Amino acid sequence: MNQDVQWMQAALELAKQAGEVGEVPVGAVVVKDGKIVGRGKNSPVSGNDPTAHAELLALRDAAQTLGNYRLENCTLYVSLEPCTMCSGAIVNSRIARLVYGASEPRTGAAGSVVDIFSNASLNHHTSVEGGILAEESRQLLQAFFKPKRVNQNPLREDALRPMDEWFEGIPNYPWPANYIANLPSLNGVRLHYLDEGSTPDNAKQITYLCLHGNPAWSYLYRKMIPIFTAHGHRVVAPDLIGFGKSDKFKKAQQHSFEFHRQVLLDFIERLDLQRVVLVVQDWGGILGLTLPMAMPHRFGGVLVMNTTLATGTQALSDGFLSWRAWCQANPDFDVAKLFARGNKHMSAEETQAYNSPFKDRGHRAALHAFPPMVPEYENSEGADISRQALQFWRERWQGQSMMAIGLQDPVLGQAVMNDLRQNIRNCPPPMLLPHAGHFVQEHGQTIAEAAVQHFKLSSL
Ligand SMILES: [Zn+2]
Repeated sequence: MNQDVQWMQAALELAKQAGEVGEVPVGAVVVKDGKIVGRGKNSPVSGNDPTAHAELLALRDAAQTLGNYRLENCTLYVSLEPCTMCSGAIVNSRIARLVYGASEPRTGAAGSVVDIFSNASLNHHTSVEGGILAEESRQLLQAFFKPKRVNQNPLREDALRPMDEWFEGIPNYPWPANYIANLPSLNGVRLHYLDEGSTPDNAKQITYLCLHGNPAWSYLYRKMIPIFTAHGHRVVAPDLIGFGKSDKFKKAQQHSFEFHRQVLLDFIERLDLQRVVLVVQDWGGILGLTLPMAMPHRFGGVLVMNTTLATGTQALSDGFLSWRAWCQANPDFDVAKLFARGNKHMSAEETQAYNSPFKDRGHRAALHAFPPMVPEYENSEGADISRQALQFWRERWQGQSMMAIGLQDPVLGQAVMNDLRQNIRNCPPPMLLPHAGHFVQEHGQTIAEAAVQHFKLSSL
């Protein structure tokens, strides 16, 4: 066997060992008179040492073995082309010959980016040969980086990610998860959404865009989704950041009206949703009703359930103010109990599904952030955009409208909804649900059945 190959295999063995403990797999040996006198494996992470590259460690090891800081008549074998730091050290230690494996196109200092060794005023000693067992080295590096590339959404440091196990076995939610993190506004936080019933030609389908509020998630639409898809429509239902299977900010202050609105705009744009029927309730409407004026060509219909546009020009309802005060007084409130209270027809498993996103207390920042975020005064964040939206619905809205009201809602009930209806152009009299409360979607089957009759593709 070629001597160079034999020594390079020793270097690759060290590279493998580095990779096994989570270091970028690079290894090096120093050889003198047919014997290994120094070994090094890349270890900057474990050593908290930016200089702990395989070559430097091998040089140090060899100098100790030989009892000399000058490594005369030695060859350094390294599995990857050295960086500038290591190349400088190789020259300084008077290594006679450098043999490396794979080239390193981003940082290599033996010809790839710069060439320390060809510089006559720097280097008098070291000859260079590259490409020995290069393929083996490359495969080792690719295998090391591969699992990280598969995980396209590393968790941001200021965010938390709910565990998949928290959602296992919850009833009537069979749909696969979809994730997106690379929207400009998301900046790496991962948003979960359902996307069901889409056909290859989905620009010609009606898309029901279903937006939940606080403290719910896309689970809220489980009774409506199958009805929409059974009629050949597409359903897209995101979980707002902080809710459901989406990432959670660690701090309440990270949430803002403008952030959530921009995420929804970016999301609709990225999925290129067309012929949208906007389905909203609670914060789904407080945010969602401000969207169509920014992209009116995408929206053909709106289905409004217990919600409002908070313009800051009218005092917030007493019902809302008590809800906000109650949330502040009970920061650890049981979300499942809240659903159980107004929905006697729900099973315990169903109400518990609303606790699933919040199994750790650290995940509750959105629950604290949202009630105080409802625009209260004319200069509150979101109030101005909500006033513009109200004007849009009153004067420029061209699409079809439908309204459904849960009459048992003390927060955003019939009075608030009647006000809103006056401001939605051509909105017919509402569908009234005497037994439904704030979370109208828990009685969503009849609403969805009425909606698929009401919204016709031909007119969207
Ligand atoms: Zn280096």
